[in-house]
Amino acid sequence: MNNDYLLQEIKSISDDVQKKILNAKDKSELLDIYNKYIASNGILSQKKNNILKSKSIVDKKTAILKINSFFDEVKKCFEAQKKSIINAELLKENEDISLPAFDLSVKGINPIHLIREKIIDIFFGMGFKIYHSNDIDDEYYNFTLMNIASNHVSRDMENTFYIDQKLLLCTHTSHAQGRAMEETKGKPLKIISPGKCFRKDDDDLTHSHQFMQIEGLMIDKNINLGNLKAILEIFVKKMFGENRKMRLRNSFFPFTEPSIEMDISCDNCCGVGCYKCKNTGYIEVLGAGIVNPKVLEMNGYNSKVYSGLAFGIGIERIAILKYGIDNIRRFYTNDIRFLKDFKG
Ligand SMILES: [Zn+2]
Repeated sequence: MNNDYLLQEIKSISDDVQKKILNAKDKSELLDIYNKYIASNGILSQKKNNILKSKSIVDKKTAILKINSFFDEVKKCFEAQKKSIINAELLKENEDISLPAFDLSVKGINPIHLIREKIIDIFFGMGFKIYHSNDIDDEYYNFTLMNIASNHVSRDMENTFYIDQKLLLCTHTSHAQGRAMEETKGKPLKIISPGKCFRKDDDDLTHSHQFMQIEGLMIDKNINLGNLKAILEIFVKKMFGENRKMRLRNSFFPFTEPSIEMDISCDNCCGVGCYKCKNTGYIEVLGAGIVNPKVLEMNGYNSKVYSGLAFGIGIERIAILKYGIDNIRRFYTNDIRFLKDFKG
């Protein structure tokens, strides 16, 4: 036997195998071809071994190179056909024409956004302007300028998410007060500032580690608690209607003096007492007060001339009360079954 004849034979088999591969219609057919011809004990490998053992071939190096090139062509053809069959099968699986088309219609708007817009609208009506602030700020604005003592518990790592020694995720929207007063430079102002707040506090159904607030700040001459009460009353009536009850309680915040908290009657029990309101009949909505003169002075205002009122409204709290939602976490899980009930 001569060298050329043997190589011609293996070339002919390789060509036939490639035709078979290209005609294979599924993975099982392809696997049979692989086992019969390409595998280490397949026909092609046996032929290769026979040729290499044959004493009639003088230039074995050239023969090996040629045989390897035939093998490479077969393997390339095999891989290409395998890929093509897999893609075709995937396409077939995805092409289920009996399935209804995806419903891409808008399901609704998260109630947090609906309430946020409603609150902004109410305060626009009372002449407040929006002041935009960041969710990350220096602890100087978040704590120090708000008259929060350097050893106050809210500054602890256990209660606040720090980014580094100075920067933190704002624990309230009150940091916007310092920023706004700094820009206003001792002149009257009337702003609301929506933003996100972050605290290590998710103990019950009405608390989450992240929530939204709208800060309010009004500074002018002769601002007093009566102005604050009037503003909050307008807010409650416009948000919840004439019949929803509100009550003010004494409280304490370092940045207001005096400080108050405003509650609204529980929607779940109409004020009788239930699990949602911890049997008090009311749910806390916001903290407010007359701006502490120390805060005014620290922020460049003459507290003998100017006074101010401030409030922080919890947006989720308002949404819970407004829509009777049982768990604050529903706002954040993007459950379409929940969201579809809220239209803009
Ligand atoms: Zn209740």
